[in-house]
Amino acid sequence: MAREPYLVLRDFRVWFEKRRGFFEALRKATPEYVRAVDGIDLDVGRGEIFCLVGESGCGKTTTGKGILKLVPPTGGDVFVGVPKTVLDEYEAAKAGKGSADLETIRRQHSLSWKEQRPWTVPHFALLGILLGVGTLIATTLPAFVTASVFHLPFMDGWSYVGYGLVVALLVAYFGSMPPTRPTPRTTLVLGALAVLAFNLSTYLGLVFSGYVDAGGLYQSRVWGDQTLAMFGGNLLVIGVAVFVGRILIWNRLREEGLEGIQIRGLRQKLQIIFQDPYESLNPKHSVYDIVAEPLIVNGLGRNRAETEARVEQALADAGLRPPKDFLFRYPHELSGGQRQRVSIAGALVLDPEFLVADEPVSMLDVSIRTEILELLLELRARKGLTYLFITHDLSLAWVLADRIGVMYLGKIVEEGPTRELIKNPRHPYTKALVSVVPVPDPDRRRQRIILKGERPDPSDIPPGCRFHPRCPVAFERCGWIAEEVVTELKDLSAGTPEEGLFAGLRADAPGAFTLPSAPPDAEATIRRLIEDKGEEFRGLKAIRSIERADGGIRVSLHEFTEPELKAIAPDVKVSCHLFA
Ligand code: SF4
Repeated sequence: MAREPYLVLRDFRVWFEKRRGFFEALRKATPEYVRAVDGIDLDVGRGEIFCLVGESGCGKTTTGKGILKLVPPTGGDVFVGVPKTVLDEYEAAKAGKGSADLETIRRQHSLSWKEQRPWTVPHFALLGILLGVGTLIATTLPAFVTASVFHLPFMDGWSYVGYGLVVALLVAYFGSMPPTRPTPRTTLVLGALAVLAFNLSTYLGLVFSGYVDAGGLYQSRVWGDQTLAMFGGNLLVIGVAVFVGRILIWNRLREEGLEGIQIRGLRQKLQIIFQDPYESLNPKHSVYDIVAEPLIVNGLGRNRAETEARVEQALADAGLRPPKDFLFRYPHELSGGQRQRVSIAGALVLDPEFLVADEPVSMLDVSIRTEILELLLELRARKGLTYLFITHDLSLAWVLADRIGVMYLGKIVEEGPTRELIKNPRHPYTKALVSVVPVPDPDRRRQRIILKGERPDPSDIPPGCRFHPRCPVAFERCGWIAEEVVTELKDLSAGTPEEGLFAGLRADAPGAFTLPSAPPDAEATIRRLIEDKGEEFRGLKAIRSIERADGGIRVSLHEFTEPELKAIAPDVKVSCHLFA
């Protein structure tokens, strides 16, 4: 890749925890994950169009959304517009070389560094319990001290001050530390939360200590006597919670690099065009509202005139001319192509550098597709945009992309320049994809490669090479385990004289299976099947040895590893043991 790198992903992962019922969660301690994106490395050059292709469910859309943090990344690093020298230092630090500190580079430059998981019900419950315990201690302690040591009435002015401080500090601390994902604006929420906790717990403290009856606070002499203290206490609580919260949050943002407000600035440069222009536009909003929304949310566009000018410019850039004619139309008054242009205008209005285009033409008529693709190319030429173009259609990638990455089950299995990848596909999965692309020549036909079986469940990814159960050229080192080979032997012997022989096959371990009380010719039968059926039932190739043991036979399999994505030619990478 000759271009200066713009988007760099390293070991990028997006996993989703599988939902579990209450009893299932009790039984299984470790949660299960759908590994939608499972550790991909990717380099997209500035001004480049990089296409991610693959069948539905391979993780290409999740990759695009994960980069923009529309879904939270689980791990890995995302670098956007980071200088090459920093990336070199990062690679060196990862390899244990150089003097730079890996964590410092990640903290300062990686968009996904130390991603905090959003709050869940247990987090809120924990905060509630901690606040409850804290307030209980804080309520009784000053009361005890003021009443028993200083012989002052319960909850006098000073005890309000002490108690208010404790509540404010507790709220500020727990509201700004992980797992929260605060922004500077969170401090206002902290102030409100602290006042609520202060007043509520004071009231409960007074009631439970028997000082006033429930509901009797307002009639109590206490209220009248201590109104000023209560008022001052509230001011103090807000002030301390906001002030301390702000310091803690700023400190955390500084330490955690690109989290929070810094991400907001970067996000303006990274935008997405969604697949479905019918779903992605709010039918109740006018074109002006839709396109102006990103400006308003990001606090850009100082006044109505400036906002309108930027919206009109974005509409014109997206090919809706004259823009004034479209400003106050609603989505139902537009054609499919015009709606997609409005989506594109919404992405362009923030003047981005990078666009994730998620199948942007797949829902459009063929006649309109060309116009939208031409528009995307024109925008790249005019504005120097970089694209991550997501599609399942290799022929689309062929006309548009500079380079292509082929994804299968959460991993990139092949990557290379468009022409090279389509003319000379290396990975068996890429070969299968290319073989079904129509050829615009009635006299030429490609031999179609039809893959057997279904795409495996991403929460139960096959070991070794994840493509091996469907690979037409899989061999012994590709990841076969005993259960798969036993199933293949049973399948191929179904309805044959060997069916009874293999009925007793038992997988003992991932790498071995046995046939108890096997007849003397069992070994020869298996060897004959490997010879005759090995090309069709490729799991049989994994059989390494067959030994007699305790009146039966024990079959051992070859060991296997997961293939890595390796450079096999200039700018071409493949993940397959055939190219080891
Ligand atoms: S490693 Fe290569 S040959 Fe083996 S299963 Fe995977 S793609 Fe097929």
